[in-house]
Amino acid sequence: MAYAITQTCCNDASCVSVCPVNCIHPTPDEPEFGTTDMLYIDPAACIDCGACADACPVDAVFPVDRLRGPDTVFGDLNRDWFRDHPSDHAWGAPGFPRSLPGELGTLRIAVVGTGPSAGYTAQELLRGTSAEITMIDRLPVTGGLLRHGVAPDHQSTKRIAESFASVFHDPRLRMHLNLEIGTDLTHRELAAHHHAVVYAVGAAADRRLGIPGEDLPGSLPATAFVGWYNADPTVPADAVELSAERVAVVGNGNVAVDIARILLTDPDRLAATDIADHALAALRRSRVREVVLLARRGPEQAAWTRAEFLALRQLPGVEVVVEDHPQVRAAIEAAESGAGARSGPGTGSGAGLLAGLPLVPYDGSAAPGPGRRIVLRFLSAPAGLSGDGRVEALTVERTTLAADGRVEGTGTTDVLRAGLVVRSIGHRGVPLPGLPFDERTGTVAHREGRVVDPATGRPLPGTYVVGWAKRGPSGGIGANRACARETVGALLDDAVARALPVPEAGRRDFERLVRRRRPDAVGLRELRAVDRAERERGEAEGRPRVKLATVSELLAAGRRR
Ligand code: NAP
Repeated sequence: MAYAITQTCCNDASCVSVCPVNCIHPTPDEPEFGTTDMLYIDPAACIDCGACADACPVDAVFPVDRLRGPDTVFGDLNRDWFRDHPSDHAWGAPGFPRSLPGELGTLRIAVVGTGPSAGYTAQELLRGTSAEITMIDRLPVTGGLLRHGVAPDHQSTKRIAESFASVFHDPRLRMHLNLEIGTDLTHRELAAHHHAVVYAVGAAADRRLGIPGEDLPGSLPATAFVGWYNADPTVPADAVELSAERVAVVGNGNVAVDIARILLTDPDRLAATDIADHALAALRRSRVREVVLLARRGPEQAAWTRAEFLALRQLPGVEVVVEDHPQVRAAIEAAESGAGARSGPGTGSGAGLLAGLPLVPYDGSAAPGPGRRIVLRFLSAPAGLSGDGRVEALTVERTTLAADGRVEGTGTTDVLRAGLVVRSIGHRGVPLPGLPFDERTGTVAHREGRVVDPATGRPLPGTYVVGWAKRGPSGGIGANRACARETVGALLDDAVARALPVPEAGRRDFERLVRRRRPDAVGLRELRAVDRAERERGEAEGRPRVKLATVSELLAAGRRR
């Protein structure tokens, strides 16, 4: 019986390199790798050895005959991918890990950030070089979006943190947490103590809608909502108020899907996860029973991935309906008839995934009906938010797509009554003092990971960028592996070309500087103490961990080491 890859696939291709028959595709060398949601195993070629299941960092690979419940569809999904992408599983040219010539000595490299792109960068550097690494995070705990972004009901995705933990505990790595570059230390000071600095700082801000009423209380960016349920210490415990019966989520990507799912999942199921205690308590008291997802384009352009949408369709006790609209109906019918993408849930485009869902007329000015449900409204964009001191309603404008794909308002509007609006329209990078920033893309200006001065196109010696700060806010966790490989490759090329600056001061000097500027900066020992404290609290409640949700609690737990 063959193996199949399931919903939580992280795309980091750890499985590809261990498969003895090269039956997992697309591989990182194949063009489809850049756009695929997940990887697939060809059941006709799989020899059932299980090496991929052992290598998978997120526990996403199972024998097909052991798939249960919502995962059963993945047997067909794996098989069908090879119907559309026939492969003879021939091996590509062999690749060899990059390494540095010994005569270059020990490089000292700072990595700013401790999320997935930082983790893959450190892993790549430790494997291929004898470098000493300084890791820095502005929060007193590591993980970035792995800890504060991945939804709590996706515990197996969070398992990838275990592979990063072994990186963070490498004796060549020093950790400085609760230390912010740009505030506590400048880029210049950091660079003066290292041969190279790699920025893995993600995209911490939100895109703006730019409509009236956007900042009314009760209108939140997705980063705040997600941070709230994930115990991000920068988001207050009372940031979200769930007294309304209807919530509108603007945007149609995976984060919007995460938010809708968390809002309507039975809290007893979430109680077995590492969700923030304050969020669990609020969700138990929640009056929310309808979540409306507003997508400004049609189902064919949905930004969510197939696996995430299938999981939403299968949420126990929650009905998923689609607002009836001639264009949406036509897209679904085309997908069903095979004129669009192949039909049926689990196949084809966004429209194909809607096949079989009820198409209903929708009136958002009335109170929601009984029962918990998710309403998918396509070709709908918010034109304004209104309310007396707090959001009470949105004006929703019907949209259409111009021939060039631009979204245009039609002028036809309706009212959607909602007491909470979550704006889930994507992240945006934040400029870092001392580093060039591309305002248009919201990223650090770079070439193959080398930070460049946009005016001259010249690289800033010894300065690199990786992850969302480099590529913009798209792609799941595993996409950072190839991204880190590119950035580290550029750094090693520069090292070999002797183009890295020589540090003005050593590791000890840097540690003294950190202690002076940030006496409450914390290191690996404190991090271990926090981890232990959270796991112990979790054990008592049958949960993986109970997260500490404020900076002061995290620092106190660290001090109790
Ligand atoms: P995203 O995938 O870029 O989706 C953003 C959504 O917002 C799109 O539907 C976009 O529509 C819409 N939007 C943008 N501007 C808008 C506006 N002015 N008005 C109305 N709608 C607007 O962003 P995301 O959901 O934040 O996800 C970020 C990345 O993380 C993605 O790559 C995602 O797959 C990944 N992620 C993955 C998982 C997972 O694998 N489980 C979970 C969470 C996040 P248009 O298409 O019309 O622009």
